[in-house]
Amino acid sequence: MDIAFSAELEAFRREVAAFLDTAPTPEIREAGAKTTSVFAPFEQVMAWQKILHAKGWAAPGWPKEYGGTGWSVEQRYIFAEEYWARDLPPLLPNGLGMVGPLLMEMGTEEQKAKYLPGILSGEDYWTQGYSEPGAGSDLASLSCSAVADGDDYVINGSKIWTTLAHKANRMFMLVRTSRDGKKQQGITFLLLDRVDYPGMEIRPIIGLDGMPEQCEVFFTNVRVPQSGRVGAENDGWTVAKALLKHERGGAAQSPAMNRKLAQLRAAAAATASPNGGTFAADPVFQRDLGELEAEIASYAAFEKMVLTDHPIGHDPASPSMNKVMSSELAQRVSVLMTRVAGLNGLPLQLGALEVGGGIAPLGSMHDLVAMPYYLNSRATTIYAGTNEVQRDLISRTLPVG
Ligand SMILES: Cc1cc2nc3c(=O)[nH]c(=O)nc-3n(C[C@H](O)[C@H](O)[C@H](O)COP(=O)(O)OP(=O)(O)OC[C@H]3O[C@@H](n4cnc5c(N)ncnc54)[C@H](O)[C@@H]3O)c2cc1C
Repeated sequence: MDIAFSAELEAFRREVAAFLDTAPTPEIREAGAKTTSVFAPFEQVMAWQKILHAKGWAAPGWPKEYGGTGWSVEQRYIFAEEYWARDLPPLLPNGLGMVGPLLMEMGTEEQKAKYLPGILSGEDYWTQGYSEPGAGSDLASLSCSAVADGDDYVINGSKIWTTLAHKANRMFMLVRTSRDGKKQQGITFLLLDRVDYPGMEIRPIIGLDGMPEQCEVFFTNVRVPQSGRVGAENDGWTVAKALLKHERGGAAQSPAMNRKLAQLRAAAAATASPNGGTFAADPVFQRDLGELEAEIASYAAFEKMVLTDHPIGHDPASPSMNKVMSSELAQRVSVLMTRVAGLNGLPLQLGALEVGGGIAPLGSMHDLVAMPYYLNSRATTIYAGTNEVQRDLISRTLPVG
């Protein structure tokens, strides 16, 4: 979809480009180049959010009254294009993209005043405590319990796959407050001001890519204030579903894929193919790349329709469709990346991946990131609700007959 922008918007583009070219530190750029997950290296990306916040640009999608930019859809699109034309780490999603918008929709005025400023500025980072060992796809089976006691809840149980819990300072979570009625009816949504309450223990899990990105979190008689409850007690399922809508459809994914495609094309032109010449001249590789580019262009058109408030964005299946398409396309990009890296992509170079570590990679930057990105992206079809479950949700929105 080509859009001819006005002279005013092109002037805006130049302002954005000038800022993005000069404001990030070398470490922030390095973190962008070494991002192999949805979650960019933590310290550098939070530092970058603070710089963007000081400029007033941390949350292009938030309403102005909560500190958003107030930009038009076109301005947001231009900002995303310029952002992804550079090696910049994507801001982390849980605060700005998930619990922030949820609080605007369902939080009390006190909760908004207390939490939104820290989410926007990057002072606070929120981890998501939904899944449990026995409650993933079947989330409503969760059993981590909270019992009301005076002005507090007392929490016992555990969570798993809690991304960046070991880096976060706040947590939103689902707890079981009743076992009466249907399992969805006894769930409550809580905001935790800390992740180091007495009785909380966080244990990182090492992922396939060698990185400790997810965690287990254990609660033993952890006392938290009831003022952190969003919505009514036992009505947390409604709140949880509202948040998942933001998680599955909230952020633009195609600009990141296009960035990866551009890098892949550059790497293909610089790498010898086993079929002779470079990958840029390899017809089999070019066929696969061309097919993928066409599908990503088609997905990008869908995404733009959703972002520009096209009716398709209001279809109940839209967040699930978005999740399935974006995750599977990202995985296919990662497969082509490993094909180009070939044997050079096999060594797991954790030292070279560390930002500021000063260890030069063996081979190119493409060779360094291809395999960790491939391994990490295996998870995209699992988290935020597995793709099998999303397909089931899509099918349920279709007319029966
Ligand atoms: C990298 C990563 C990060 C994550 N981050 C977080 C986080 O920050 N916070 C959090 O709370 N959780 C997080 N999760 C957990 C994630 O939401 C769950 O892993 C996911 O919901 C699947 O649950 P499960 O792992 O228990 O698998 P299961 O639910 O046991 O599923 C196993 C398999 O069975 C299939 N299946 C299950 N039910 C159905 C069905 N009804 N129809 C068809 N197929 C079905 C699934 O598709 C899957 O293939 C993360 C997971 C990963 C991998």
